[in-house]
Amino acid sequence: MEIAVIAHDGKKAEMIQFLMNHKEIILKNDVHLIATGTTGSKAIQAGFSNVTRFLSGPRGGDAQIAGRVAEGKTKLVFFFRDPLAKHPHEPDISMLMRLCDVHDVPLATNLSTANLIMKAVFGEKIS
Ligand code: PGA
Repeated sequence: MEIAVIAHDGKKAEMIQFLMNHKEIILKNDVHLIATGTTGSKAIQAGFSNVTRFLSGPRGGDAQIAGRVAEGKTKLVFFFRDPLAKHPHEPDISMLMRLCDVHDVPLATNLSTANLIMKAVFGEKIS
């Protein structure tokens, strides 16, 4: 299953902790992670080898991931947005979220929702 992970700078630590908390289930269930550039680097540093890195978000990475959602390749999107920061690529962020809705792809924009989705999809206990 292809899962996208994207985290704004203020949320990257939270994203990596989230991935670590679910590492066993991610590795066991043949999950392939796709990620924006910096988020992907941090996931790789944290020991995930099954990561395809796209461009950094502001350089078009969110748009690339939106394309995969539109093509039906990405089945889940974990997008930890920082609601307290401004982003130069706001149009790309809106596009990604819109396409998740167009194609009915589950989208978590915060940790609690992401944990609930993991539980629903993989039958995990909420951590
Ligand atoms: P990044 O992109 O992982 O390359 O930092 C995330 C974003 O800002 O959308």
